[in-house]
Amino acid sequence: MASHSLTSFLQQNLEGLKQQGLYNTIQPLESPNGPLITITGREFVNLSSNNYLGLANDDRLKEAAIRATKLYGTGSGAVRSINGTLQIHVELEERLAQFKGAEAVITYQSGFNCNMAAISAVMGAGDAILSDELNHASIIDGCRLTKSKVIRFNHSDMEDLRNKAKAARESGQYDKIMVITDGVFSMDGDIAKLPEIVTIAEEYDLITYVDDAHGSGVLGDGAGTVKHFSLSDKIDFQIGTLSKAIGVVGGYVAGSHDLIEWLKVRSRPFLFSTALPPGNVAACIEAINILQNSTELQTKLWDNTRYFQEGLKTLGFSIGRTETPITPCIIGDETATQRFSERLYEEGVYAKSIVFPTVPKGTGRVRNMPTAIHTPEMLDRALTAYETIGRELGLI
Ligand code: PMP
Repeated sequence: MASHSLTSFLQQNLEGLKQQGLYNTIQPLESPNGPLITITGREFVNLSSNNYLGLANDDRLKEAAIRATKLYGTGSGAVRSINGTLQIHVELEERLAQFKGAEAVITYQSGFNCNMAAISAVMGAGDAILSDELNHASIIDGCRLTKSKVIRFNHSDMEDLRNKAKAARESGQYDKIMVITDGVFSMDGDIAKLPEIVTIAEEYDLITYVDDAHGSGVLGDGAGTVKHFSLSDKIDFQIGTLSKAIGVVGGYVAGSHDLIEWLKVRSRPFLFSTALPPGNVAACIEAINILQNSTELQTKLWDNTRYFQEGLKTLGFSIGRTETPITPCIIGDETATQRFSERLYEEGVYAKSIVFPTVPKGTGRVRNMPTAIHTPEMLDRALTAYETIGRELGLI
C-alpha cells in the first residue's frame, strides 16, 4: 500500500498540472516515426520528430542492426569498463572521432547521459560554470551534479557572458571556469555564437563545452555546429546525440585524447550503466557511412526546411529567430497556441504546441520539424492546414 504522504503528493500535483493545462497525454504511434504517422487509425503529416534525415526508418540501418544483433545478440552484457566493450563500440568511437575531426570520442547510452557524465567528471567544488539561460534540461541537471557555482548568462548575450566571465576570473574564487551552451537551441532553432564564445574563452581561460544535439547531422556537412564555424580545435567538449539526425539512440563526447581517457575512468554512466546494445551501435556506424558518402539527405533536409519556412512566412506567420530546420510558428497567447495545435491535429497535421513555462510567457508556439524525407505534397498539406486555421483564428 502506498504511503499516505506519497498518495496525497501525487494526487495534488497531478490535479494541479491538469488545472494549469500542463498535463501531457501521450499518444502512442501505430507506425514508424516517419514523415507520415498513424495514431488511432488516422494518418497525420508528422512535424514533431527529431528524425531529421529519415535515418530512424532507413533500410540500410535496419539491416546493419539485424546483422549485428544476429552476430552479437541483443545486449552488450556489461558496463563498458568491465567487459561490455565490443569491437564495434571501439569502431563507432573511431569513426565518430574521424567524422568530427576530434582526437577521440567516448559514447554513452544517450545524449542526456553525456551531460550527466561529462560535466561532473571535470568540474567540482571551487570551480564555476557559465551556462546559457536557455540550455537544455540535461545540461542543467549535469551542472547540478557538480559542486561548482553555476552562473547563468542571458541567452546568447555575449556582453553578459564577457562581464560574468571577467567577474568570475577576477574574483580569484574559482580554479576552473567552464562556459557551456547548446550548439542549436531546441525551442527557437537559433545557433550559438561560437566564434564570440571562443574569443571570450581565450581571454578568461574558460573551458568550452558545446552540446550539439540538434547540430549533429544537420550543420557543418553533418559534423555539427563546431565544424560549421571551423572551430574544431577550439572547443574542449563537443557533445553529440545519436538519437536525432543519426536515427538510433545514444550520445558521445568528442575531445582530446586526455579528456576521453579521463572520462573512461571517471564518468559515472560509462562506469555504472550497461553499454549500448550491438544492434544500435552497428546502425550508428551505418549512419556515419551514409553521411560520409553523400550529402543528399542533408541537401533534402535544407531544401525542405527552406520550402516550409518560406511557406509559413508567405502566409504571414512569424518563425522567430530560427537558422536551422527547427521551425517555431510563433502564435503568442498560450490558449490560442494550444487551440492552434488541436486544430492542426483535427486537420491531420501533428505538430505540438509549446507554451510557458517551457518558453517565456506570451511566446507560445507550434514547433515544426521538416525532415529530409517529407515530400513537397506532405509539406503542402501542412501549409494548407496552417492557412485554414490561421484565417479561422484571425492570426493571418
Ligand atoms: N541535449 C540537447 C540540447 C537536447 O536537445 C537533447 C534532446 N532533447 C539531449 C541533450 C538529449 O539527447 P538524447 O535524446 O540522446 O538523450
